[in-house]
This record gives sequence, C-alpha cells and structure tokens, in this order.
Amino acid sequence: MTAAVHVHGLTKIYGPTRAVDGLDLQIETGEVFALLGPNGAGKTTTVEILEGFRSRDSGQVSVLGSDPATAGAAWRDRIGIVLQSSGGLDLLTPREILRTTARLYERPRAVDEVIASVGLQQKADARIAGLSGGQRRRLDVALGIVGRPDLLFLDEPTTGFDPQARRDFWTLIESLAHEGTTIVLTTHYLDEAEHLADRVAVILGGRIVALDTPTALGGRSAQEATVTWEEAGARHTEKTSAPTALVTALHARLGGEISALTVTRPSLEDTYLALVSAHSTPEQHS
Ligand code: ATP
Repeated sequence: MTAAVHVHGLTKIYGPTRAVDGLDLQIETGEVFALLGPNGAGKTTTVEILEGFRSRDSGQVSVLGSDPATAGAAWRDRIGIVLQSSGGLDLLTPREILRTTARLYERPRAVDEVIASVGLQQKADARIAGLSGGQRRRLDVALGIVGRPDLLFLDEPTTGFDPQARRDFWTLIESLAHEGTTIVLTTHYLDEAEHLADRVAVILGGRIVALDTPTALGGRSAQEATVTWEEAGARHTEKTSAPTALVTALHARLGGEISALTVTRPSLEDTYLALVSAHSTPEQHS
C-alpha cells in the first residue's frame, strides 16, 4: 500500500504556542484514521495543514503524493473536506448548493444520491436558513463527499447529530471506506472512533503520544478485565487477566447460570483518558 498522507517533523508555532510540535504521521491509502485529543491539542491545525489551508513552519508533508502548500487544482479535486462549521448560504437550498459544488469537480457523485445518503431528502429544496443544526451538519457532509474524493477529511463531523443520524452517518462512512476512500477523522466521540477507525492517534501538545488500532491503543487489549456477578444475594467484583478461567471456575462452582454476570475491559474512553492524563502537564489539564 502507498501512503495517502506522509508527515515528518511537522511544526506550527503561534507566538509562544507550539500548536504542532514535530509531528510524524503516516496514513495508508484506504484507511479510516481518527485523530483524538483534547481541545487545543493541535488536531485542527494539523488537518488544515494537510488540507492546504494553513502554512507550516517546518517539516515535510505529502498528501496524495503532493505538498498541500503548493498543490494545484487537480490535487484539490481529489480531496473532500467537512469543516467544523459552515455558513453564509442561507438563501440557497441544499440541492442548489450541491449542484453548484458538484460542477466544480471532474467526476462528481449524483446530487440526488448524495442527498439521500445523508438523509436530507425532506429538506433538499428548503432554504438552508430553515435547517436545524444537525441538518446543516448533514449538508456539510454532503458537500464534502459530492466531489467523490479519494481522501476525505472530517473535522468533528457528527457534532449536533441525534443518535439515529450518527448511526446513519457511520453507515455512510463505512460505505465510503468500502469504496476505497481514505478518511481522516477528528472527533471527541470515542465510540465513533472505535466504531469507524482502523487506527487512532492521540495528539497532545502538538505531538502524537499513542497510535494503534482502537482495540490495542495504550495496551488496552492486554489490560485486566473486570468480572462481576451475584452470588447468595451479594454482588462480587474481581479484576483478572484470565476472565475465561474465572468464569469457568464460577460456572463449575455455582453449577449453572451465573447470576448477573458481566465481563468488561477498559473502554476506549477509559484508555484515552488515562493516556491524556499520563502525558499532560498540569497546564494542559486546565
Ligand atoms: P479542538 O478540539 O478544540 O478543536 P484542536 O486539537 O483542533 O482543538 P487546534 O485548533 O489545532 O486544536 O489548536 C492548537 C493550539 O494552537 C491551541 O493552543 C490554539 O489556541 C492554538 N492556535 C490555533 N490556531 C491559532 C491561531 N490562528 N492563532 C493563534 N493560536 C492558534
């Protein structure tokens, strides 16, 4: 596989703030890659440099084989972007803005298909001014995918979505990934990263402090499981690295169904919070 994104030693400085601080990153073609990190960690700065919207102070960056700082129209045609918020189009309808946007691309998706894929059929011909926050966000996503990008950047795409809309969005992203689209996602929703991402990176202070599959991040798959059950009317909890053996022993001892049995491992959110805490300075906690 060739890398869709290759970053080495990326640095961006704002006055006293090293927003991105010598960041190294490689994202493979066809991968769904999530960037996690607390507010101010450097996610948006990094992504906007990859998109060609911000300059960098130093480091090497290659996106789809070109440097975003100098890449031209043919490169931009292959990139889809869903920003954190959009506005200023209030008098148009979703169908109008999507048709206009589609014309800017060489091989756009059919506008009706895009409207359906984000679930905006009922509002396709309504003024954008009258859309709810979640419906506007769906339009943002539609604008990001209408050009049939090879690489799609999604910056906190499901903020403001209701639970069903979020599930629908996940299905859409899965189908785009299935078609071979490389997807770079920033999100504060750990369940979203866990569901969608092949790999996740945790950024803190402009550097990547952990990078792995969601199941293995921070040694998660090797961490102890917590087994809970009820026995003689009392609740029992035991932490173990061998939950199968414990449950087998309980089954033998209790002679049948184990009452209220649960076996859990640290969630991605637990692991993420532990990683952030371990790598933070007191200032970053505030
Ligand atoms: P969030 O989760 O809140 O979106 P983030 O991880 O995307 O945060 P960035 O927006 O990349 O964080 O910001 C990283 C750091 O750089 C922050 O300390 C921020 O204040 C600073 N920063 C970002 N853009 C600018 C700017 N244009 N001028 C000055 N400082 C900036």
